[in-house]
Amino acid sequence: MASLFTRIINREIPADIVYEDEHCVAFRDINPQAPVHIVIVTRSEITGMADLPDSGDHQFLLNAAKKVAEMQGLSGGFRVVINQGVDGGQTVDHLHAHLLGGRQLDWPPG
Ligand code: 5GP
Repeated sequence: MASLFTRIINREIPADIVYEDEHCVAFRDINPQAPVHIVIVTRSEITGMADLPDSGDHQFLLNAAKKVAEMQGLSGGFRVVINQGVDGGQTVDHLHAHLLGGRQLDWPPG
């Protein structure tokens, strides 16, 4: 069974896709936590940070995040977050980074 995010990548589930390249796809989060909240996912179904292969699509995740941040005009700053596992708050087992921006972000996160 394909993951939720693979189904978004394959256009089986609608999403507001804002960027894609050969390694990653980025779309607006359905439950945004900031004025800009974009999920950047690997095309390959890596389950999470704990299962990173030595090489692959995840190596391009930060580059994609940087590009999307530029495209979204986040020149004042932004945050990139990867949640891992239950304690990390991960709810979708398909590697993804959250790009958050458009307001002053609190630290530390909850
Ligand atoms: P996680 O909690 O795994 O770090 O992040 C998963 C994110 O995916 C959450 O922020 C959640 O709001 C988002 N999400 C879950 N289902 C959907 C969906 O169907 N469409 C979109 N665009 N985002 C989703």
